[in-house]
Amino acid sequence: MSDAIAVKRAPIHAPMAQFQVEASGELRVGDQNLSVLAERVGQTPFFAYDRELLRARVAQLREALPAQVKLHFAMKANPMPAVVGLMAGLVDGIDVASAGELKVALDAGADPAEISFAGPGKRDIELRQAVAAGVLINVESARELPVLAEASARLGLPARVAIRVNPDFELKGSGMKMGGGPKQFGIDTEQMPELLAEVGRLGLAFEGFHLFAGSQNLRPESICEAQQKSYELALRLAALAPSPVKFLNLGGGFGIPYFPGEQPLDLAPISANLQALVARAATELPEASLVIELGRYLVGEAGIYVTKIVDRKTSRGQVYLVTDGGLNHHLAASGNFGQVIRKNYPVTIGNKAGSVERESVSVVGPLCTPLDLLADRMDLPAAEIGDLVVVFQSGAYGRSASPEGFLGHPASVEVLV
Ligand SMILES: *Cc1c(COP(=O)(O)O)cnc(C)c1O
Repeated sequence: MSDAIAVKRAPIHAPMAQFQVEASGELRVGDQNLSVLAERVGQTPFFAYDRELLRARVAQLREALPAQVKLHFAMKANPMPAVVGLMAGLVDGIDVASAGELKVALDAGADPAEISFAGPGKRDIELRQAVAAGVLINVESARELPVLAEASARLGLPARVAIRVNPDFELKGSGMKMGGGPKQFGIDTEQMPELLAEVGRLGLAFEGFHLFAGSQNLRPESICEAQQKSYELALRLAALAPSPVKFLNLGGGFGIPYFPGEQPLDLAPISANLQALVARAATELPEASLVIELGRYLVGEAGIYVTKIVDRKTSRGQVYLVTDGGLNHHLAASGNFGQVIRKNYPVTIGNKAGSVERESVSVVGPLCTPLDLLADRMDLPAAEIGDLVVVFQSGAYGRSASPEGFLGHPASVEVLV
């Protein structure tokens, strides 16, 4: 690795700090300053994802976690084909949530043996595509079973299945809860005896269990507790399974810091907990690989959103910087994608990031709605029309999670640098 990369790696966690600022005040992205990159891209708004930061994050995680734990990338966090292609070469497997994502993962060269397909409401055609592709299907409804059995018989290929369990506990402190209580995800623990018997009767290739309790969690003790309970539950269910467990997907939920006061996740307790589970699995589930699946933790901090200031106006003392993109490209940064109370993402003026002259401004997008807010009364480098607003922590749930068609402005583009 070159020196430049080594320098960039060190402060990977702190929002903004993973991107260097040049003496000129320009933010450095990849090996260019932001203004040159913007010329190269040829338009604003755009998202830029940094390869070296993506590589560094996976390397850092591998170093922290037990070697036996398999690392999967949940590609819905960032489905850009070039990103998926890069990640496929770095992680052990890709988790897809639709046949569309499955195509991107297969095109990227991901090994079908290590692709898993989860999601409620899988259409019959998607289930058949997954059997034909030879990927692992995380079954979320009893309805999926006969469709899989039919496809398997017709194609002469095993339908590889894991059962997504809706556990009888929740992930505490999660931004989004995706398990426990009544849920559309997975199948309730209570229904497992009957369901597992049906998997056996239909002769499906049973491979294991999938549990996913929730997302965006910054509390290691909650993640450890969820992993512990998920393991215990899977162990109980393994006794009812038609064949030994080969995959035990314990979910993920690792969060990243977005807002003032939030601290990066401490991996040490999670690693120790996983180490203990690996040791138990060696005797209790000897054929099983433990898997964790992460989306935002892998890609979120490696990406920025860049939008140009097209107007600057003052209303009753409040300065507004109006940009050429907003919630139509980056719904999450506007606070309308799962936030309970709106808070500002980390933002700067990318071509003046090092400027000492600062002022309190609101950054708004071009849409005719007060929801289109990227920064609410933030202290930022003083900026003019033509300057580039940068939103950090934008590598996950950005472009693909935003209502691009809303108001008919031009689309954003994505680059991997
Ligand atoms: C969305 C999702 C993930 C990824 O969640 P992150 O919070 O981005 O890590 C992982 N697994 C499943 C089943 C998901 O639906």
